[in-house]
Amino acid sequence: MTEDRGLVVVISGPSGVGKGSVHAGLHGLLEGLETSVSVTTREPRPGERDGVAYQFIDDATFDRMIATDALLEWAEYAGNRYGTPRAPLDAAVASGRTVLLEIEVQGALQVRARLPEALLIFLVPPAFEELERRLRDRGTEDEAKIQARLEVARGEMAARDAFDHVVVNADLDRCTAEVAEVIARARSGL
Ligand code: 5GP
Repeated sequence: MTEDRGLVVVISGPSGVGKGSVHAGLHGLLEGLETSVSVTTREPRPGERDGVAYQFIDDATFDRMIATDALLEWAEYAGNRYGTPRAPLDAAVASGRTVLLEIEVQGALQVRARLPEALLIFLVPPAFEELERRLRDRGTEDEAKIQARLEVARGEMAARDAFDHVVVNADLDRCTAEVAEVIARARSGL
């Protein structure tokens, strides 16, 4: 019965919890996963190409997308704005595909409100100190930005109850397998 309906899967959790790594690993475990390409006003990091993980847009374009209701959800995060374009997502879901959104918590809560049938998965670090270590090890942000992200992460942990599943990322492979199983179950309508 449910085979023809696409599925929207949201992977969320505090910054640095490993959303990107889990997301990348899922493609090896599940067939036919699509990734939603977000728009953002932040500057590309070295090596980031426009249109792959993000479409990099300016503030005026972002404002226009909000005004025309072109975004399913959007949030301001550590001084930049991020959003999920609605059109490609709607098209994928209408044709029965599974689309994955890797987004921060405020955005995930908007998806919950606007698309109640979406599957929301919240990743948590085994301990808060571990999160801080991972953010530092990544080495892409200066100290002020790390502090801003940690502050946001403290607030984000409080939102976990709104999610369908909470998965601890203590071991990347195990966590990825667990998330894949949750998605597979939802796809088969269980
Ligand atoms: P980063 O700047 O490290 O790429 O991303 C910062 C945060 O924004 C991450 O938690 C990431 O998951 C989140 N993010 C990426 N795209 C979106 C989006 O379209 N919407 C929302 N709400 N958050 C996003």
